[in-house]
Amino acid sequence: MNDVLPAEVGAWQRLEDCARELLASYGYEEIRVPVVEHTALFKRAIGEYTDVVEKEMYTFSDQGGESLTLRPEATAGIMRSLISNGMLRGQRHKLWCVGPMFRHERPQKGRYRQFNQIDVEAVGIPGPDVDAELIALTARLWRRLGIERVRLEINSLGTPESRRAYREKLIGYFRAHESSLDADSRRRLEGNPMRILDSKNPEMRAVIAGAPLLTDHLDPQSREHFDALCAALESIGIPFRVNPRLVRGLDYYSRTVFEWITDALGAQDAVCSGGRYDGLIAQLGGEPTPGIGFAMGVERVVELLVQAGHVPAGRAADVYVVVSGVRASAAGIGLVERLRDELPRRRFDLNLGGGNFKAQFRRADRSGAALAVILGDDELARGVAAVKPLRNEAGQSECPLPELAAAIEAALTGAAAPAE
Ligand code: ATP
Ligand code: MG
Repeated sequence: MNDVLPAEVGAWQRLEDCARELLASYGYEEIRVPVVEHTALFKRAIGEYTDVVEKEMYTFSDQGGESLTLRPEATAGIMRSLISNGMLRGQRHKLWCVGPMFRHERPQKGRYRQFNQIDVEAVGIPGPDVDAELIALTARLWRRLGIERVRLEINSLGTPESRRAYREKLIGYFRAHESSLDADSRRRLEGNPMRILDSKNPEMRAVIAGAPLLTDHLDPQSREHFDALCAALESIGIPFRVNPRLVRGLDYYSRTVFEWITDALGAQDAVCSGGRYDGLIAQLGGEPTPGIGFAMGVERVVELLVQAGHVPAGRAADVYVVVSGVRASAAGIGLVERLRDELPRRRFDLNLGGGNFKAQFRRADRSGAALAVILGDDELARGVAAVKPLRNEAGQSECPLPELAAAIEAALTGAAAPAE
């Protein structure tokens, strides 16, 4: 679980601001749901035979003896919220949220125990139009962020019915190769053999490569849905690769699944993953409603931003206010508060905690301010302040206090490094 330090937070804010604006422009509304839910919700939604439920959940009993879990993903909680707030009833919802998720994984670069996701859900629309639009939204986000090293993989998981026949084939195949299966896979063979395809164990690669493909067993409607999605992506101009091995780690997906992957982050190559979950809401006790969504790994996207050099610098001060003398020190704070009223978009750093001129100017320099305003007892008595440019050779000048805000704005607008 990581600290995000002030020096790193600029990239986070850039991603969050960009996503917030983009999502609003596509008609998505923010929803905020709890970080803790009943354990049973995740077991039902995500599936018993998944890595997440089998070994990654932070589960505890609260004082009332209820089993609760820190959310490992956001979709289940959002669907629970739509159900418990009576928001389904044939309605559509386009929703997003951002926040921490918790999984007890082996920590490594790009894989953490508390990590953050931007989660986006479109509920009540069967697709494939919304599937294509969601993917277009993510492609646009990469463009806006200046992220180039990502590519799109898609697949269709068909319907639960079409999966049933495939499941039998898959069990048959893996039984015939049982000696090559690891312990996890042997356990999943009966419970959920498709999970084996999602194994991260490199020793399983060869046996998985020979397994029958779900894409060869799609029902006609799912095939049509998938073909329409592919055609839409082509018409928008989004390159993609059909990856028939893409099954995704959570059980609730049906039909469309997709993943944006990168070659820039080593083994942790998925930056944004999602898919359709037409059966999930009914499975959780809500009225049957189709849905599709995705989750983006914030830490991984932030790392791509850093690598691409797209990290905004922290915002420098515009004005550093140097105060000297007993009266001026006392008056300084009132003066700066008035300046903040008049110039609300400017950053003022008032010298706090005293110090001689030399120390104050050193702090002024470190603040990055373009201007210093100097207020001493003598200036105060005459109703003026001194204004001194810090980043060019222009000399110091005096300004009557009532005109100070205008003089500061004029000097900053003309200065070499304007704030915006
Ligand atoms: P992975 O294959 O990397 O384990 P996943 O299939 O478990 O990912 P999802 O549950 O679909 O991932 O989560 C969506 C996104 O969240 C992933 O694409 C990834 O960017 C990010 N993510 C998942 N787990 C972690 C983690 N432990 N630390 C950081 N980011 C993560
Ligand atoms: Mg995982």
